[in-house]
Amino acid sequence: MNSVQQIWDDANESKMSCEVLIIGSGAGGSPTAALLAEAGFDVLVVEEGRWVEQGTVAPFSLDQMEQQYRGGGVTVALGLPSIAYTEGRCAGGGTEVNSGLYRRPPTEVVERWRDRWDVRDLDPDELMKTATEVETDIHVTHLPGPASVPSQLLRQGADALGWKHDESPRWMTYPDGNPRHGQRQSMTRTYLPRAAKAGARILTQCRVNKINISHAKATSADVSLANGQAGTISFKFVFVCGGAIQTPAILQRSGLRKNIGQTLAIHPTVKLSARFADAINVPDDVPVHQVKEFAPDLSFGGSASHAGLIALSLLDQWSDFKGAIEDWRNMAVYYAAITSEGRGRVMSVPGLVDPVVTYRLTARDRELLRSGLSRLSLLMLEAGATEVYPSFRGAPIIRGRKDLALAQKRFSVNKASVMTVHLCSTVPLGENRQLCGAGSYGLVHETKNVYVNDASLLPDAPGVNPQASVMAIAVRNARHFIAQEKPHA
Ligand SMILES: Cc1cc2nc3c(=O)[nH]c(=O)nc-3n(C[C@H](O)[C@H](O)[C@H](O)COP(=O)(O)OP(=O)(O)OC[C@H]3O[C@@H](n4cnc5c(N)ncnc54)[C@H](O)[C@@H]3O)c2cc1C
Repeated sequence: MNSVQQIWDDANESKMSCEVLIIGSGAGGSPTAALLAEAGFDVLVVEEGRWVEQGTVAPFSLDQMEQQYRGGGVTVALGLPSIAYTEGRCAGGGTEVNSGLYRRPPTEVVERWRDRWDVRDLDPDELMKTATEVETDIHVTHLPGPASVPSQLLRQGADALGWKHDESPRWMTYPDGNPRHGQRQSMTRTYLPRAAKAGARILTQCRVNKINISHAKATSADVSLANGQAGTISFKFVFVCGGAIQTPAILQRSGLRKNIGQTLAIHPTVKLSARFADAINVPDDVPVHQVKEFAPDLSFGGSASHAGLIALSLLDQWSDFKGAIEDWRNMAVYYAAITSEGRGRVMSVPGLVDPVVTYRLTARDRELLRSGLSRLSLLMLEAGATEVYPSFRGAPIIRGRKDLALAQKRFSVNKASVMTVHLCSTVPLGENRQLCGAGSYGLVHETKNVYVNDASLLPDAPGVNPQASVMAIAVRNARHFIAQEKPHA
């Protein structure tokens, strides 16, 4: 890692230049940087956040939120209800802070993207081959031993109800074979060192404010450096990989607006805490089992559950639920996630650093969230929970099946803590000019050299954890770029 450290420490200048500028070092930006650098391009990666070495902050802790999340993890899409979302802001982006649960995009989803958005040459078989390569590169694997107790409880509840479930593989290595000692194979462990080895420069704590574009051609980017200094980076090509919220904001600040930021798609979730007779809490990891009986519309899984997050899940009905926090070691948080038909917007506003984000759930989304929370409560009862605490204002404590009807009756999405960590589709790719902000390989329509290569490109939400889709498409597009624009070296 020393070589990477050296590169960004040296780069404390107000003017730089490169052949390819990559903005953002997350799941889209890092593989793009590695592949282009290995193909001989002169690559500079700029990343707004810091490089935080894994192991120096506790996973899912407040400290991690402070150091590695945008806005300390407090970001919200306005609406009825407003929906809390989180974005990674550090070298490696979301891959450093996420749960590491890997799901290939389903074939029917890829076919839908190809057909409805008219994505040229998007062949599901080819994309799966690319996914296989990525899986090798980031060590996607199942647990080497038994899953944690909160994970097994999900499985037991699903088994009791005859519902489909499985264990999601993760991008992890297990050096000592202990399933509790996994090391996340995030971008700072995989593609970023690979990019640096191939000669890419990586500059952290450098924020791109705007890309300067004239006659459809971008020439430079205005940046703010870590020391507060303003700088300019000139380039021949630029890849915007800031994630589904920041990428459209950067493009809009640069004057690009057509089909940019108008179709935000997410997987909204609602939550509950379940209390068991025994100590089951695992504060620093998440369950790997997911219940897929109602997928792709509705899935169930487990969330991070340290004491602070248990308290947060009880907060909506704190007056009745607060006693439970004493027993947090016997509790864990679970979620119901839906594939939403609603859409949101990302709007950059002059004078504001971050864009304004809105999201509107449809009536069908609201109904799915209601039935999702109810079914998840049932699942937890079947798993042996003695009490279930749903996260919405006015919620009753559920102690048995008889309480489910009351909880469902009292539920309203507007009273619930709805949140998401899966954001995509703000610059959909494809040839359909009515729907798409970028072409079939990510070149922003009406520009000659501005590419997007991150979660923004997914035409709609994949209905599964999205990082595999983001990475497979990013690798596909990077390869196409390399074939089109051979390096001069
Ligand atoms: C808490 C959490 C849990 C998740 N769990 C999973 C999971 O288990 N499985 C899964 O598949 N997915 C998961 N995800 C989603 C997954 O992490 C994202 O889909 C993926 O990281 C998106 O990749 P990206 O490249 O689009 O954006 P990101 O990975 O977010 O990277 C974007 C990067 O760009 C940088 N950036 C933004 N704007 C600028 C700017 N102006 N200048 C310079 N740099 C900038 C950001 O700081 C960030 O580092 C999770 C996400 C979160 C937040």
